[in-house]
Amino acid sequence: MLQRARGVLPRLAFPEPLETQFRLWYASRVRWRIRTTLWLAMGNILLVSIALPFTSIRHRLFGPDHDGTLAALAGVLFATSILAMVVVSIPRLYKRYDIAAQIIAPAQALCFIAIDVLMQGQGYSLAAWMPLVVIAPYFVFGMLHVEAVLISLFAVVAYLVAGELAGLGSVQRWLDVSIAAFASALGAAVHFSLQRAVRQGYVAAQSLNESAHRDSLTGIHNRRMFDEHMRRVWQQAARESVPVALLLIDLDRFKEFNDTHGHQGGDTCLAKVASLFPEVARRPLDLAARYGGEEFVVLLYDVRREQVEEVCIQLHAALKYAAIPHPTSPTGIVTFSIGAACVQPRADRHPEGLIQLADEALYAAKESGRDRTVIMDREYESLVTGAFRLRRAGGAAA
Ligand code: GH3
Ligand code: MG
Ligand code: MG
Repeated sequence: MLQRARGVLPRLAFPEPLETQFRLWYASRVRWRIRTTLWLAMGNILLVSIALPFTSIRHRLFGPDHDGTLAALAGVLFATSILAMVVVSIPRLYKRYDIAAQIIAPAQALCFIAIDVLMQGQGYSLAAWMPLVVIAPYFVFGMLHVEAVLISLFAVVAYLVAGELAGLGSVQRWLDVSIAAFASALGAAVHFSLQRAVRQGYVAAQSLNESAHRDSLTGIHNRRMFDEHMRRVWQQAARESVPVALLLIDLDRFKEFNDTHGHQGGDTCLAKVASLFPEVARRPLDLAARYGGEEFVVLLYDVRREQVEEVCIQLHAALKYAAIPHPTSPTGIVTFSIGAACVQPRADRHPEGLIQLADEALYAAKESGRDRTVIMDREYESLVTGAFRLRRAGGAAA
């Protein structure tokens, strides 16, 4: 995915789902910058509007006929600026900031253009401000590239059309439009290279992150990734009142496998077995990882016990199908035991309890003959400690 991402960087769009992840990351990254630049933009709008309540200044700039229109335009400028600040400041609303910005930015540009047209009647103009208006979509509103280019172009075209409609087609007006168009093109070029650099940085950070979270032997996620993911998922499940399940999977008699096939043969077997787990953890919040040694975990979000049973049956069947020879195993092939725990996370309980319960279930699966699944759920409320963990700590073999 990241390799493909590098290839499409010149188009400033990643393949999905990376593009969606990037947009979320980018939105959180630019939030403080949007807020700062919005304050600056509001300062500018304030400067324009401070003059308007004074009738003498207003009439000198716009003539006596436009008081109502001016009040309406100033109202739209203020209302949209305040709306932008509110959207940026409230996390829940900020999720929809892109849509808000796509309405607010062109609305403000149109207000400036209308004010400019009104001023022209008295021989004044906001022409000097137009370059700022057309680069605002790039640098004030924190937009992605394509949206910013389209809104900036819209502002240039609106400036041109408004001039023509108001009969302002003087040479000076054409010069002003050209300067605005030039500012828009310059903004687009600078914004393009900035966006490309941001995307390159994102891909590099993702690659680093990716290798830090992968197990080098099996290629699936590692313990570190599991711990981080578990913490996040636990909180989310508690918030959303959604059940989660944890499968703790331990290869049976793997010490004997190593004794027969050597450590390298054991490594190859681990990689083969590990490749089965991501198949059952495909949804965005599911995760398969190597827990350590010959133990693996599969974390499933929002699943019922029956679904967990099905997943376990599927895993046992997949390993049986792989048929990795194991001479000292009663079945003649490699098997594993699964301890599964299904719980409803609560914010006041630690995710460690879920691991302990899966540990208990795994111990029960080993005790009752291996190559099977034991699922526990009700035991969670009265959970005290993990027997399998204690047994391993004591170093006793099953
Ligand atoms: P049980 O059925 O009770 O799980 O028995 P077991 O032999 O699988 O369990 P035990 O804990 O006694 O042994 C685990 C073995 O897994 C011992 C260790 O050499 C092997 N092992 C752990 N990590 C690796 C690894 O990365 N590569 C290889 N080849 N073997 C490993
Ligand atoms: Mg083990
Ligand atoms: Mg084992």
